[in-house]
Amino acid sequence: MLFQYRRCRRRTYLDNYADPELKDPPSDYFVKLRQDSAEHRQDILSQFAPLSRPTYEHHNWEAGADATYRLMREGADTIHRGVLVTEGPDGTCYRSEPDLLVKQAGNSWLGSWYYKPYTVKFGKKQKPEYQLVATFSAYLLAEIQGVWPDTAELFLKNKQYSVNLERYVPKLQEALDDCHEIMASDEPPEVFISRNRCSLCPWLGHCYAKAKSVNHLSLLPGVTLPRYPTLVDLGLTTVEALADIDSAILTDALGTEHHISEKLIYQAQATARGTAVPRMHSGYFPIEPHQVPTTDIELYFDIEAAPDKDLIYLHGVLVVNNNNQEKTFHALIAEAPEEEEKAWFEFLALVERYPDAPVYHFCPYEAQTVARLGQLYGTDGVDINKLLNRFVDIHKRIVDSVALPVESYALKHLARWMGFEWRDEDANGAQSICWYADWLETGDRTHLNTILRYNEDDCQATYRVKDWLVKFAQPFWQSNA
Ligand code: SF4
Repeated sequence: MLFQYRRCRRRTYLDNYADPELKDPPSDYFVKLRQDSAEHRQDILSQFAPLSRPTYEHHNWEAGADATYRLMREGADTIHRGVLVTEGPDGTCYRSEPDLLVKQAGNSWLGSWYYKPYTVKFGKKQKPEYQLVATFSAYLLAEIQGVWPDTAELFLKNKQYSVNLERYVPKLQEALDDCHEIMASDEPPEVFISRNRCSLCPWLGHCYAKAKSVNHLSLLPGVTLPRYPTLVDLGLTTVEALADIDSAILTDALGTEHHISEKLIYQAQATARGTAVPRMHSGYFPIEPHQVPTTDIELYFDIEAAPDKDLIYLHGVLVVNNNNQEKTFHALIAEAPEEEEKAWFEFLALVERYPDAPVYHFCPYEAQTVARLGQLYGTDGVDINKLLNRFVDIHKRIVDSVALPVESYALKHLARWMGFEWRDEDANGAQSICWYADWLETGDRTHLNTILRYNEDDCQATYRVKDWLVKFAQPFWQSNA
């Protein structure tokens, strides 16, 4: 509960009180993450074998806590999923089941030893939610064994970290107090949709419907959780109110740079009017024609990667011939992880066949990956800087120049607003990682073909966005001239 609380206060309430029937079914990607995480945990735990484990009837926590305490009193070296239970305020009960309790030398109520908690997580970074959970286990242990461990240990994907308890105990206390307050309330905390933290949450469908029903400001791109309270203080709780605010007042209240508040106001205007609004700069359209070049041949490029395998398995390139409107899709694919290098050189050979063509892509990832692969495998004589100079990030061009009535500037939202539809409605980057894993496991080409169709559609969508922007910008460029 603490783990989810650190990400979203509302989730604490929903997880405890809302009807579980309202939850979304888990996505394939979420299931894959859960499996990968279980494998990672198994890997780490195997290093500590043999493990003692308390035996008790399922969900009988009291019995679990007694069995764990017995193992601790006996001085078991390593206890797996021990149950730590102590009393919280007002008759509440605190419970934690750390992945491991590892015996240490030193005095405690148990004897000449005490225990330290080890928590295994699948992430790469030492996130605050991991540290909070690890600190909670240390806190309960201190109550049970009469002495604090010096640290709580975290095993992450590539590294082990020690949590600084001195720093985290006050944060834990604050979090526990706040959790008590949320749980005592009759209503869940206000909804706030934030792509990062909500995207894998099972309550997203429920919360999104709630946000939609009240036209919640969090659906407006640029309205972030830290900015939201200031907007509420200014009485800007509707898109229309935000669309009409003076930018100097907003800049001052947010303590931000002028162009950021201006961007927020343009966004509110686009959403309130349901139309595209140019982000004019001193009367000029902010990008020039050479920044969105239209040439005889243009390339549209999209990569598929499997971050869990540290692998780039597909370079998809759509070649557009503006002379005859012909579009040809090339899939340079690593059918096995060992073929990453081969796919890379095929990609280089293809882009070098069109040395003057701009390479359109969406967001910086493609350019960053090309630079990285060039360092990793070499470039076969291709001047990588010259190649990267041909890259055009169409996402950046869009956000720099126009506000659109969309909830996000992700490719899906933009291209759909411009009338483009993907052949597979549910396809997305996370899903494609699962399809590739399925292909490797089963050898069934249907999975591979689905990835190719999805990647080609992403390239086509990128083309649609570029085409739309050039048409939209045309009248402004004419008047600029
Ligand atoms: S969908 Fe978002 S707002 Fe709703 S509970 Fe989950 S994280 Fe919180």
